[in-house]
Parts: sequence; C-alpha cells; structure tokens
Amino acid sequence: MHLEPPSRIAILGAGPCGLETGLYARYLGYQTTIYEQGEIAQAVHGWGHVRMFSPFHMNRSPLGLAAIQAQNPDATPPHDEELLTGNEWRERYLLPLAASDLLKDHIRRDTQVLSVGKQTLSKADAPASSDRGNEPFRILIRDRQGQESTEFAEAVIDTTGVWGQTNCLGPGGAPAIGERHHAEAIDYRLPDFLGTDRERFANRRTLVIGSGFSAATNVLALADLANTARQTSIAWCTRRATIAGAGPLLEITDDKLHERARLTRAVNRLVDAPDSPVQHWPATWVEAVEYDSAQQRWSVSFGGSRQGNESFDRILANVGFRPDRDLYRELQIHECYATEGPIKLAATLLGQESTDCLTISGAGPQSLVSPEPNFYILGTKSYGRNSQFLIAAGLVQIRDLFTLIGDRDDLDLYESVTLG
Ligand SMILES: Cc1cc2nc3c(=O)[nH]c(=O)nc-3n(C[C@H](O)[C@H](O)[C@H](O)COP(=O)(O)OP(=O)(O)OC[C@H]3O[C@@H](n4cnc5c(N)ncnc54)[C@H](O)[C@@H]3O)c2cc1C
Repeated sequence: MHLEPPSRIAILGAGPCGLETGLYARYLGYQTTIYEQGEIAQAVHGWGHVRMFSPFHMNRSPLGLAAIQAQNPDATPPHDEELLTGNEWRERYLLPLAASDLLKDHIRRDTQVLSVGKQTLSKADAPASSDRGNEPFRILIRDRQGQESTEFAEAVIDTTGVWGQTNCLGPGGAPAIGERHHAEAIDYRLPDFLGTDRERFANRRTLVIGSGFSAATNVLALADLANTARQTSIAWCTRRATIAGAGPLLEITDDKLHERARLTRAVNRLVDAPDSPVQHWPATWVEAVEYDSAQQRWSVSFGGSRQGNESFDRILANVGFRPDRDLYRELQIHECYATEGPIKLAATLLGQESTDCLTISGAGPQSLVSPEPNFYILGTKSYGRNSQFLIAAGLVQIRDLFTLIGDRDDLDLYESVTLG
C-alpha cells in the first residue's frame, strides 16, 4: 500500500536486513525507527567466527557503501571478492553503516519489540480489508531498564531474523524425550571451538545432530580441534540415509559459491578418511536424552540404523531455526503451514525445485504482501524455516518493497545512487 514520506516506518531488528531497509527508507525521506533488542547485528556476532561463503559484493548494497563513504571518504571497504567472517563483515561494513549519518540517530538499541498490533482493530476485525491500513500500528516495546511503552507507525517491517528460535532435535522435528528438560545444556548453534569454547569441547566426545551447513561447519571445526586436542571425537548423526556414492552433505551441482563447495567436499571427505575423528551415523535419529549434570555426561537413545544407547560429553543440535510468530499474532498474516513464512513468498520458494539458494529467483514485490496492509516480513525471517536465505535475496526484497510503498515500479536506489 502506497505511503508518502514522511510517514512513519518502524523496522524491527538491526541485523543486516534491518539496517539496509532503514537506509533505503531514510534515503526516501520516511520517518524511520529501527528497534533492536540488543546490539547492532547481534545475531551475526553470534556466529561471528564463521567464514561466510558468499563474497562481500553479495553481502552489501551500493547504498550502504555510499553511506559509509559519505561519512568517511577515507573508509576502505572490504574487497568485493573477499570472504569475510561474520565478525569481519559486522566490523568492516555493518557497524560503519549503522554509524553513518543517515542511520545513527534512528536506531534504538536494547529495545525489544514485544508485540505489534493495530491501534484499536483486533485480529478478527475487517478481515483482509484495506481499511485496516487507515489505522496505525501499535508497537509494544521494552527498553533496557525493563520499562514498557508503545509507539506508533504507519508501516512495520519485521526483520527480526530466526536466530533466536531453534528447532527441536527429536525425530520429525518434535522434542526428543528429555530434550525440553535439559535444553539449557544442549548447544543449538555454532560454538567457537578454536576460541572461546575450546575448553568445553577439547578432548571430549561430542554428538552432532543435523545434515545442513551449520552441522557440517561444526563437524569440520571440531575435527580441526582434534588436530591439537587428540582425544576429541565426534559422532555425527543424520536422519537421512546416505545416497550411494554421496557424503552426508549433498553437493550442489556446479556450485558458484566456491567456499560452500569447498566445505561440502571437505566434510564429505573427512567422514571417509581412515583416521578421522568423525564417525558418521546415517539414517539415525535421537529418541531420548538424559543429562547427568554432576558428571556432565549425556546418555542418548538412538533410533534407526544405530539403535541403542551411547554416552557423550556434549550435544550439538544443528537442526535449524524458525521465526518468532508471536510478535505479529494479533495481525492478519497468512502463513505457510510447511515453513511458517509468509504464504506468498513461501509458495514461490516451495515451487522452485532448486536446493541452491543462488539459483532461487526473486519472487517480485507482490510476494511480500500479506492480508495486513503495510506489514512486511523481510530478511531471513521471510523464509521461515527454509534455511536457504542469502543477503543478496534480502537486498532484492528491499528494492522490491519500496516500489510498492513508494508506488513507483521503476524505483531502484541501488541503480540510481552512485558512489562518491
Ligand atoms: C552461520 C551462518 C552463516 C551464514 N552465512 C551466510 C553467507 O555466507 N551469505 C549469506 O548471504 N547469508 C549467510 N547466512 C544467512 C543470513 O544472511 C544471515 O543469517 C543474516 O544475518 C540474516 O540477516 P537478517 O537481518 O535477516 O537477520 P539477523 O541477522 O538474524 O538479524 C535480526 C536482528 O533482529 C534482532 N531482533 C530479534 N528479535 C527482536 C525483537 N523482538 N525486537 C527487536 N530486535 C529483535 C536481533 O537481535 C538481530 O539483531 C548465514 C547464516 C548463518 C547462521
């Protein structure tokens, strides 16, 4: 729905997509506020030690570079082909972007968004009617002192990501027996095995669960740790049976992201190496976990081809992330029953057979529209549980969205803003 500047646009989350969205909105003259529950690009910091597989030119916008350059003409951005770690990306691009004149006074750190609704209309009122767009959104926030208050905006763009909500490790994605009780002791993300988390994993037996890139990244890093801490061992269980001739991680044919292709080959070779610290258990899933906190030992019951009990020092469950839908529970958002992403975009993504996020084509501005006028979900959250999101796709979403909000099909600041 068309909005004239200087209407108020609230952006939820100051991750990479929230920052880029805020920048675009500011260039166009909207009153923009970005609410961030913690620090700038907090989630990226959480996996900051991991090297990205997309080169820098895919992870930044021309607008972002121009904003940084305008602030500091001597700034030297990373080289376009550089493969940065998450922390390098954050420190060399995202933080300077957040500190640029256009954004710095428009980001509210340590401000968590608790809920977004309409000022008076309830979820059931005026179903799918454009009349709902005549009333502002009411945004309930909590500041760093724990004080709650409300603010209002004509449009809300939710870029809160998925990093905060992890899936369960049991068969079929439901919790394993005991998982909820012991969840605090399970690692669901990407520890820094060679840095701050070394002591917890060195010379320990770790169970890794999952068959995606996060699991593969963790398995490789643990194997690196085993080079210096020789008693470190890894059992890697994947629900899928291995296809004959293929490794645990499915290769993407002619993968253009060389770092991702390298990671795939490396982990698949590692599980077959004669003196590998990694044992791969295909077609195996976890039925139950029991943690003895005094001994710091796990007892794990497996189903499938490795049926039986084993004990471990650590459990790493890399079983994916999901969106926080509570934030917009009182709005009229039509979601996909498979991915929990907004339905139009999800339908487009499900309709594309490719497993390579690079070849997934842009879904167009209309895919961002939901029954709730002027409420949009962008960034990794827009993909729901689908883990194929790339920043490059997020930048296309931002450009597409503002053609709708600005009601100008040809609006493209990424084309029209030049550097210097
Ligand atoms: C290990 C790893 C490696 C990746 N590598 C690549 C890569 O090489 N290339 C690529 O293109 N993509 C990569 N991705 C995928 C994706 O691009 C990143 O996850 C990226 O950070 C997504 O950006 P985002 O802004 O959508 O979400 P996020 O980075 O998750 O940012 C969301 C922000 O919202 C904040 N927030 C959350 N809830 C609230 C709330 N209620 N109120 C206020 N603020 C809130 C968070 O604190 C956070 O700052 C990778 C992801 C991971 C996990």
